[in-house]
Amino acid sequence: MAQEKLFELHSLDLTLLDLDRQTAAQKKRLVTHRENTLLRQKRRDQLKDQHKTLQVEVKQLELSIEQAKQRKSALGHKVERVINVRELEALTKEITGLGVEIEAREETLLGLYERSEKLDQELASLEADLQRRGGELSRLEVDVAAQVKLLAETAATARQARTLVEAQVEPALLARYSRARTKYEGAVLFAIRDNSCEGCGLSAPGYEWNRIRQNPGNVYDCSNCGRLLVYVGEAL
Ligand SMILES: [Zn+2]
Repeated sequence: MAQEKLFELHSLDLTLLDLDRQTAAQKKRLVTHRENTLLRQKRRDQLKDQHKTLQVEVKQLELSIEQAKQRKSALGHKVERVINVRELEALTKEITGLGVEIEAREETLLGLYERSEKLDQELASLEADLQRRGGELSRLEVDVAAQVKLLAETAATARQARTLVEAQVEPALLARYSRARTKYEGAVLFAIRDNSCEGCGLSAPGYEWNRIRQNPGNVYDCSNCGRLLVYVGEAL
């Protein structure tokens, strides 16, 4: 019967569509991997910048502590030679102030060292991750290439079969089918089961379906969506 070849053609078209989707999904695996790697590289570069800035801060702070210590030590020597009580008081006060200042800066410095250490750790683990991803990518590329090749071969076979089947479908029917396919991606030909179009869900009055059921194998256009409907059971 004419509609049998049309169902065969439609099934091949759906297969080809599915193969296209599978191929796209395979390629997406690579794209996703590369995008994720790029995100990690950006993060790594950010961390490197932060690390650099932090090192400058550390150096400046270390220097300022060193200078304060020198100043404190110089004042200490001065105290030994001072006779004036007022001057002694002022010097002692400055020395105490410097001691407090040095302590505070050293505490800040410890915090910076800790941050620097954490940054180092995060950087090291990111670098290791990036290296691992590099190896992963090579394997993924090989795998995706193999899958895509396999899918292409399957598609080539399906297309050959399609050409043969297409030639066996009545031209007028083929034209209606092709028109429906330009309108919709996916299924456009349905065997009628319930009293509704499986494509759009439209349910027409029962007597219309009864009319269709009197003509098994006839291909009808859904009056709503234009997809094709066939009753494949026994005639009513
Ligand atoms: Zn419909």
